[in-house]
Amino acid sequence: ATPTAIMVGTGLGAKRGVLFKNATALETAARIDTVVLDKTGTLTKGQPEVTDFVTIGYDEAALLALVAAVERESEHPLAGAVVTYATTRHIPTLEASNFRNVPGHGAGATVNGRQVLVGNRKLLMDQGVDVAPVAKQRQGLAATGRTAVLVAVDGRAVGVIALADAVRETAFAAVAALHDADIEVVMLTGDNEATAQRIASLLEIDTVIAEVLPEQKSAKIAELQQAGRRVAMVGDGVNDAPALAQADLGIAIGAGTDVAIETADVVLMRSDPLDVPVALRIGKGTVRKMR
Ligand code: ADP
Ligand code: MG
Repeated sequence: ATPTAIMVGTGLGAKRGVLFKNATALETAARIDTVVLDKTGTLTKGQPEVTDFVTIGYDEAALLALVAAVERESEHPLAGAVVTYATTRHIPTLEASNFRNVPGHGAGATVNGRQVLVGNRKLLMDQGVDVAPVAKQRQGLAATGRTAVLVAVDGRAVGVIALADAVRETAFAAVAALHDADIEVVMLTGDNEATAQRIASLLEIDTVIAEVLPEQKSAKIAELQQAGRRVAMVGDGVNDAPALAQADLGIAIGAGTDVAIETADVVLMRSDPLDVPVALRIGKGTVRKMR
């Protein structure tokens, strides 16, 4: 690599807020053929809001108070949205004890002597809860691209909370630009299959890998690499850091967590998905000048 080409590439990137951490990152960017994008916080804004709260045989305000007590103890972005929703509805604050967080699944606690679970289908099923009473509501809400979270009280599924997270304005154009450059685009998410499929189809993304546990994200990247792919991973969360490290090129969203930014080879300061194809193009330009 000629130092001049590297300097030009780094400078071009910096002007757009695309920060390459080293010369190798620029060279690797030129050879990427597959881009894996995290959904929440990368393709979407990462600011979920509650849109629906459905209860089955349970008083709505009473259930929301139980749920909010659990979610107040959690640091998950979905939990924050549930707490905000409860606050706007002036729901009284209850105390939670025995709080436990189940990464990639949800959370549970004891509230007013009741066992409350808030999370995905797997969380409830693993605790022996029959999810059939809420299955229809869950499927209907997920089919619209919203994240459906289930609620169980004392072993009975009694509620569904739907959360919507707006897609970033430039996400569609970013996917299109990657396709124009003959790059395969993959979505990787811990969210449920139906929600992920809906958003992927809106964005015309080829492949969806959903319901992936936080610790499995990097293994999914390794699988693609073993299949001969040269992979860039784009992510924002703590969950994404091992996958960013595993990828040939790790790209962090600037608005993301410190761990993601520290682990990545490239940081997109404007948090704009359109800067992903830009970064790859700058890499290609640099390598061309080197020859
Ligand atoms: P992502 O990879 O999309 O950021 P996570 O792996 O953090 O998602 O979580 C996966 C799923 O687990 C969420 O979509 C949600 O259904 C459930 N979940 C996790 N934590 C919570 C929580 N505190 N409250 C409600 N649901 C949760
Ligand atoms: Mg994320």
